[in-house]
Amino acid sequence: MNLLTVGNPKVLKGMKQGYMTYILHLAPASLSGYNTCPKATAGCKSACLNTAGRGGMFKKGETTNTIQKARIRKTKMFFEDRISFMNSLVKDIELAIKQSIKKDLVPVFRLNGTSDLSFEKYEVLRNGQSYTNIFNAFPEVIFYDYTKVLGRKISSIANYSLTFSAADGNDADVYRAIAEGYNVATVFGVKKTEPLPETYFGREVINGDESDLRFLDPKGVIVGLYAKGKAKKDTSGFVKYPTIMLKAA
Ligand code: SF4
Repeated sequence: MNLLTVGNPKVLKGMKQGYMTYILHLAPASLSGYNTCPKATAGCKSACLNTAGRGGMFKKGETTNTIQKARIRKTKMFFEDRISFMNSLVKDIELAIKQSIKKDLVPVFRLNGTSDLSFEKYEVLRNGQSYTNIFNAFPEVIFYDYTKVLGRKISSIANYSLTFSAADGNDADVYRAIAEGYNVATVFGVKKTEPLPETYFGREVINGDESDLRFLDPKGVIVGLYAKGKAKKDTSGFVKYPTIMLKAA
């Protein structure tokens, strides 16, 4: 498989529920020289999952590794040779479907593991037939993503689920996203041993760390996530501190 990967800890939790998530990791923001995150903020770039896990392990004195190089290579391919990229993606998805069926798991796909591209805009060929986008080319499987981009034209795509991502300085978009019916993923500066707030923005908070299967979430909720890695030290406003907010109120 060239483009898709499996295996982060949250994906493994999903396997217990019968799903296998295949993720496309591109280079976030402008790391590759091409911007894959049009609404990235200073806080999200600094806390980005791009350097979580093995992607963030560098040999002494080095600032990159094979995972980062692969993400940059894939991103350049997406922008410089879109047809080959989309053909490879189709082949990878077909292979992933076969692999998961053998394992008795339901394949699901996250194309923006570390990017925020509007994949509904890009045409694709499958078995010689042209489709308006990858979601329409694979109506038999579920795709899901997190996004900070509002106004995406996905209402007619039944097999694509989007959760809006709160960040530093995008509260106005959070209000709009809630009004438009999105669930909103929010990173809270709460210790793992402590409970997430019960409500936020007037909505029930569910624990989004129990799995990554966002398409199974109830509607109208805040998807609470515990701050991890660099986010634990965030002071940009990307991580929300409900206790401080309550004291200030
Ligand atoms: S928008 Fe998402 S993928 Fe892009 S830099 Fe921010 S956190 Fe990372």
